[in-house]
Amino acid sequence: MKKKKTILCHTCGGNMVRDTRSDTATYKGRELAIQQPGWYCRDCDEVVFDADDAAVVESAFVKLKTEVDNILPPSEVQRIRRKLGLSQRQAGALLGGGPRSFQKYESGTDWVTKAMANLLRLLDHDPRLLRKLSRNPPDSGPATRRRRSTLRADRQASAANG
Ligand SMILES: [Zn+2]
Repeated sequence: MKKKKTILCHTCGGNMVRDTRSDTATYKGRELAIQQPGWYCRDCDEVVFDADDAAVVESAFVKLKTEVDNILPPSEVQRIRRKLGLSQRQAGALLGGGPRSFQKYESGTDWVTKAMANLLRLLDHDPRLLRKLSRNPPDSGPATRRRRSTLRADRQASAANG
């Protein structure tokens, strides 16, 4: 695998080299120390991140945001959904947000709301609560028929009594 040892700095024209330096990710005043890989210019302050480099600061930012805002990180959303035995599509349909919402939550491209985070926390604590949400079977036919026969039985019972 050939990877260029240096790239040209687009700011000063000097050489940029691969390095990993101590840095700090900040969110709403909260700080997290990170070891930030990237291309660092030898001659000026310019820094360039490739996709993997950016993922380091991004994951630190996600960690900070979930702590500061008290919401669930993507890994927790995925863990709880799997614990409940739901596909991403099922989770979106049952818990709200739409068919693609959990795909976004779990890939980190969208944040769970506080309401969704709280709902997932409750379900994580007591997965049996899920049954309270999923009591709308689409086949209302048999239920209607059953109710009708029950009514008939009631009428027959009252006729017999009266
Ligand atoms: Zn430079």
